[in-house]
Amino acid sequence: MTLIKVAPPLDQEVDLTKTYDAVIVGSGAAGGMAAHVLTELGLKVLLLEAGKKFSLPEINAELRSMQWPYDHPRRGDFPPGNHALSFNEYQIRKPPYARGSAFRHVYSYVGGWGGSDYVKNILVDEKEHPYTGTKYAWVRARLLGGKTNIWGRLALRLSDYDFKGKTHDGYGEDWPISYADIAPYYDKVDTYLGISGHKENLPHLPDSLFQRPVKLNLAEVQLRQKLAGMGRVLTPYRAGVTTDGVKNKYRNHCMGRGACNRRPGGCDIHAAFDSPTGLIYPAMDTGNLTVRTNSTCHEVLVDRNTGKARGIGFVDSVTKKSLEAKAKVVIVAASTLESARLLLLSKSPQHPNGIGNSSGHVGHNFCEHVMGPGITGLVKDQVGKSHTLDDGRPGGFYVPRFRNLTDKQPGFIRGYGFEGGSGDEIFPPSADAPGFGAAYKKHVRDYAGAYISMGAFGEVLSRFENYMDLDPEVKDAWGIPVLRFHYEFGDNEKKMAEDMAVSAKEMFEEAGIEVVGVDREVLTEGWSIHELGTARMGNDPKTSVLNQFQQSHDVKNLFVVDGSSHVSASCQNPTWTIMALAWRSCEHLADELKRGNL
Ligand SMILES: Cc1cc2nc3c(=O)[nH]c(=O)nc-3n(C[C@H](O)[C@H](O)[C@H](O)COP(=O)(O)OP(=O)(O)OC[C@H]3O[C@@H](n4cnc5c(N)ncnc54)[C@H](O)[C@@H]3O)c2cc1C
Ligand code: SF4
Repeated sequence: MTLIKVAPPLDQEVDLTKTYDAVIVGSGAAGGMAAHVLTELGLKVLLLEAGKKFSLPEINAELRSMQWPYDHPRRGDFPPGNHALSFNEYQIRKPPYARGSAFRHVYSYVGGWGGSDYVKNILVDEKEHPYTGTKYAWVRARLLGGKTNIWGRLALRLSDYDFKGKTHDGYGEDWPISYADIAPYYDKVDTYLGISGHKENLPHLPDSLFQRPVKLNLAEVQLRQKLAGMGRVLTPYRAGVTTDGVKNKYRNHCMGRGACNRRPGGCDIHAAFDSPTGLIYPAMDTGNLTVRTNSTCHEVLVDRNTGKARGIGFVDSVTKKSLEAKAKVVIVAASTLESARLLLLSKSPQHPNGIGNSSGHVGHNFCEHVMGPGITGLVKDQVGKSHTLDDGRPGGFYVPRFRNLTDKQPGFIRGYGFEGGSGDEIFPPSADAPGFGAAYKKHVRDYAGAYISMGAFGEVLSRFENYMDLDPEVKDAWGIPVLRFHYEFGDNEKKMAEDMAVSAKEMFEEAGIEVVGVDREVLTEGWSIHELGTARMGNDPKTSVLNQFQQSHDVKNLFVVDGSSHVSASCQNPTWTIMALAWRSCEHLADELKRGNL
């Protein structure tokens, strides 16, 4: 087996006089999936990506998954002059957070998450990409593949508890699809990209078509057994990682080599899914995909006679030259918030409030996940035991939602799940131990693998009042108006967060794990990086932006295939659902195009 892969050349000739079958904005999970599905179906597709290109060797050199802290001159830290925003800065200051900063480059908190040198060319510089309004920790990655280059890979399905949430508890809106509609597409995503996990047969967290699961270590097995007695489940991390391999010459199967637990981290052998190797390079190999990076899109262009989309207006991100691309169908996949921004920017006589926005819902109904509460414990039996390679696995464990399924909590609706792990890590929690010298080293070694921790991700309710619009004054480095946030957690999220800490403690105590610390603080809005809902799907064009195929109610040749289409946030991580929905919508799109309906 060879680990050196050669990607198709990204320096393609881009013919902007040509009318493509489809133009896609954005190359992350959503745009990559659209490119894969449409090119397989024979459509000629142009993909426009605002960020820079990284060739395969370049991105591998950036990620350096095998590099240990002692191999790096600054133990993985940023070079001088770079700064990552802290929790306190998000809490105390107002956006734009980088305004007036003495640092040359300012990044979101992910840049301070241990190992920041690995993301300095991946995260956006907040100085170039400001936003305004209420506090919000917005994490963005502008490069080929977007955030998938460094995502955490927890790959979960939604269930009818999510798709039919209103039917279950009366709140919000049901999705215009049910689990049965999307299940075949989850299967396709699982098979094409590979996912590791263990079947549990839970109605609220449907199983995927799993490859080999990651192995739980002894502390995790102990917790799993105790939780079973409480009617709760601890399952191995369901990772968007191929452990057995997939038919894709750009990817290898996971070899458990070490960087997965280094947050932020990417996988430089691409066992973990990322959009370029998983979707875009194979799509280029069909001969049907043209990619243009450094293309910052700012307008969906409209045919003044028909009101239909006719292409995209964009600027070259480097030269700032204005350009246009023509296509029969426009697919917006710039990520939830950027897609809403693009729709709002696309004003014309036919669409005075922004394209696809006759309902007035674009930018509204924003939802995501609330996080912060969690727990750390010590498994005494593990102190002084031999060490295991727990960094070298794609994740630890997941405890699926257990609230408001058959029970009804008094303080809040919907639920939350926990991500967690135990065992030996690059930076062991025991490194905080007091003392020095030989005794200190012995303590660190003895306790290194004995800690276990987990943190919760809870559903933020979709509310019309939580929204983003365009700031009338502030512009980004390309002269494009920026987003202004009007968003805060509500009472349901706060009550749910209180319960997260209580239930975490209850579970550790039941498992006989010594509680070392309980986190109760709620992290800043946006921290989960699971933004959703700004162009939601629905059957009623008055209260939704898209139909069940992510097609604009107003403009039939306009599709928005990312998380902005989600009707509610669920508490499960969204990326696998984003890709399953995009697959389903793009099959429909190709069919409709063939029939002449677009
Ligand atoms: C550190 C981290 C951990 C995460 N962990 C998980 C996890 O465990 N599980 C999970 O499900 N999700 C996780 N996520 C979230 C996951 O990465 C996103 O859900 C996913 O990438 C969304 O795909 P997308 O295509 O909508 O957006 P992106 O991946 O952000 O891609 C959007 C692309 O559009 C481009 N773009 C934006 N604006 C424009 C424009 N105007 N013109 C042209 N191009 C544009 C961007 O440059 C980008 O390349 C994590 C994210 C991060 C950063
Ligand atoms: S543990 Fe597996 S998926 Fe993670 S970086 Fe290593 S090889 Fe890649």
